[in-house]
Amino acid sequence: MRSSSRTLLIPGIVSLACVLIFCAGPSGDHEWRAGAAAICITPEKPIWMAGYAARTQPSQGVALDLYAKALALQDRRGRRMVILTSDLLGFPAELTEAIAKKISARHGLQRDEILFTFSHTHGGPAIRNSLSIMYATNEQQSADIEAYAEGLQPRYVELVGQALAAMRPVQLSFGRGQADFGVNRRLLQEQGYVIGVNPQGPVDHSVPVLKIVNEQGTLTALLFGYTCHNTTLQGNNYLIHGDYAGVAQKDLQEKFPGAVALFMNGFAGDTNPHPRGTLELAQQHGLSLSAAVQAVLSRPLQSLHGRLKSHIRYAELPLSTPPTRQELLEKKQDPNKYVRAHAEQLLALLDKKGKLDPTYHYPIQTIQVGDSLLIVALAGEVLVDYALRLQKEIEQPGRLWTVGYSNDVFAYVPSRRVLEEGGYEAKDSMIYYGWWPWSLEMEEVLMKSIHRGIRQVR
Ligand SMILES: [Zn+2]
Repeated sequence: MRSSSRTLLIPGIVSLACVLIFCAGPSGDHEWRAGAAAICITPEKPIWMAGYAARTQPSQGVALDLYAKALALQDRRGRRMVILTSDLLGFPAELTEAIAKKISARHGLQRDEILFTFSHTHGGPAIRNSLSIMYATNEQQSADIEAYAEGLQPRYVELVGQALAAMRPVQLSFGRGQADFGVNRRLLQEQGYVIGVNPQGPVDHSVPVLKIVNEQGTLTALLFGYTCHNTTLQGNNYLIHGDYAGVAQKDLQEKFPGAVALFMNGFAGDTNPHPRGTLELAQQHGLSLSAAVQAVLSRPLQSLHGRLKSHIRYAELPLSTPPTRQELLEKKQDPNKYVRAHAEQLLALLDKKGKLDPTYHYPIQTIQVGDSLLIVALAGEVLVDYALRLQKEIEQPGRLWTVGYSNDVFAYVPSRRVLEEGGYEAKDSMIYYGWWPWSLEMEEVLMKSIHRGIRQVR
């Protein structure tokens, strides 16, 4: 990880040993307490970067530092939870579960009281055992990816401790703005659905904001969201960068010195920023998101009162019929190197486990913050159809905050509509992630489980 001296040079961020902590007045019988902290997680040396198959070499420098941040919340009854956000593509379950165990052991938080969520920046390091089919790494480069993930684990445990230690009495309020640079990327062409720009396709342009002020009325932390891939920078970018979300967080921390700004991505599986392709555009989108957040903060917001409740459950999501050994052996001869690598990975799994499991153990986390905010945090790259459907199906849709890339970033999670249409999110991406397509029944199984999760935190 980068040394603290580098972080101290970043303007507008008051930091000590790469850590941000806010303080407020004396404690007492207060409805809410909150604390936030941040650590710089920029890789110390060049590393293979995440999210694009097109890259041919490791990173060549740093354009914007990456951070992991923690927001600790506590209600009047003493019920706590910690939201961990990171400028990273996303961890698979094995990594979040390993860290969650250490956090539980050290800080006494239950699994449902810890939320991991990721900005899904494609300008960060590749993550261990995630999308490895996509990357042309040699042994040393794979070892560097492994070492990076290993090095992060104790740092997350420390980060949670810092946020818990920083908890002070606060007031919480919630509001929502809008930003319009996200565009649906599924474009129908003669050959089928391709990744492009589809202004007619569904999107979620809302910008949810949780505002946290101390007893003096000073903004000490803010949690904000948007539903859009952090892919303004493309596969030709070799500079470490948090993309638009990194820019927005940095700008907000400069506008509100001493406050920690944390970003959560939404159900952004089929949403890309538009236009895209340059550092200038990442800057432009980040500043427009920051401006949308500032506009929300300048208005009177909904005060949050009541209890903090959290719940995590697992749905067994159905995949389609797994490929047979014979089919995989045939695919080992495919002209496409990714199809070959995918077949080899599944054959190895078949040898190890004796069969390919036709379901996926899928985490769904629901969090109620008082009576007027409900966070539904789902694993993987969830498509926007689920956000739009949930808004229609729940009571008080104005309180809903849908968060994707949470707890386990392992595959795309398409709706039935998209599964039927085909294209990257339905089919091709499953090769890179090491799966085969979902069953068409998956959406209904998932929706039922989400509703059960919501009922648990009522
Ligand atoms: Zn993605």
